[in-house]
Amino acid sequence: MSSALDASVPRPLVDSFGRVHTDLRISVTDRCNFRCTYCMPEEGMQWLPREELLTFEELERIARLMVERHGIRSIRLTGGEPTVRAHLPVLVAKLAALPTDLALTTNGATLQSVAPALADAGLRRVNVSLDTLLSDRFIELTRRDQLADVLLGIDAALEAGLAPVKVNVVVVRGVNDDEILELARYGRATGVTVRFIEWMPLDGGGSWTADQVVTQAEIVEQIDAVFPLEPIARGSAPAERFRYLDGRGEVGVIPSVTRPFCEQCDRIRLTADGQLRSCLFSLEDHDLRGPLRSGASDDQVSDAIEACVQAKWAGHAIGQVQFVKPRRSMSQIGG
Ligand code: SAM
Repeated sequence: MSSALDASVPRPLVDSFGRVHTDLRISVTDRCNFRCTYCMPEEGMQWLPREELLTFEELERIARLMVERHGIRSIRLTGGEPTVRAHLPVLVAKLAALPTDLALTTNGATLQSVAPALADAGLRRVNVSLDTLLSDRFIELTRRDQLADVLLGIDAALEAGLAPVKVNVVVVRGVNDDEILELARYGRATGVTVRFIEWMPLDGGGSWTADQVVTQAEIVEQIDAVFPLEPIARGSAPAERFRYLDGRGEVGVIPSVTRPFCEQCDRIRLTADGQLRSCLFSLEDHDLRGPLRSGASDDQVSDAIEACVQAKWAGHAIGQVQFVKPRRSMSQIGG
């Protein structure tokens, strides 16, 4: 079981495998100002119509129920790109009033301007995606010329006290795997924790292939050869963590493909259009927006939340014959 059962929580989210769910990912929009090649095609994404997005009031209601009745202890806002949702600090202030650890995952493009307002509104921490330190490659990868903005955004997050700042790097063979060491070096120099992520078959363009996944074993071997590492015990967090033996911080790997952490998974996800998902790879959504908009009571919404958790499967089956790619891609679910 991943998290201890809290006796003071009226209706903890325990699934049929005994996993207790305490971590909620909320996607606030499916839109993004980047077009990362491993995530979505340059054109042709179908965006949700505005009226299908949950309002801040609806998001707050679900979050409050999740925290007060169901024992959610951490909330992460994501997308799409969460900072493109208008008035994001207003939502942050509403959620920061709940007793949870509130964090944000962002591409960092606008953090320079929004980090102070987010911190003032009560945001605690940010994860910033940064897959390359080379400007030409950044343009190819994100289809945007904003490497400098992202680097300044990371500095702004540190200055605003949104610590610890973590940097997420999706590694794709033949795209950026030659930069693993440089990115590790960047983390050691700046004091941000770099976390390398194995590329998952959730891209909107459908270009994922197993041989382009750079495995945790390869990533750790490359770093360890230059900056010796030792493992740190893994908790319920998806990242496997390693400490630099010279005391210069740590680095993580999220090995979702080669060493999935489904047995310890304690998270559920709410899409921007109000669909609850118990796994990134779920093939079905559990609709919360419908009940919310047709006057459901808190008990009825709670029942729908519990039904989703109850239906959670043991784990995804990437690499096995029975694997079926979900209809929604990463940016449409909320990574
Ligand atoms: N726009 C924000 C960002 O860039 O961090 C938040 C949403 S993004 C979908 C969340 C994370 O998912 C990012 O770190 C991104 O690099 C990662 N990601 C996107 N597609 C992925 C894939 N197919 N496999 C693994 N990680 C992926």
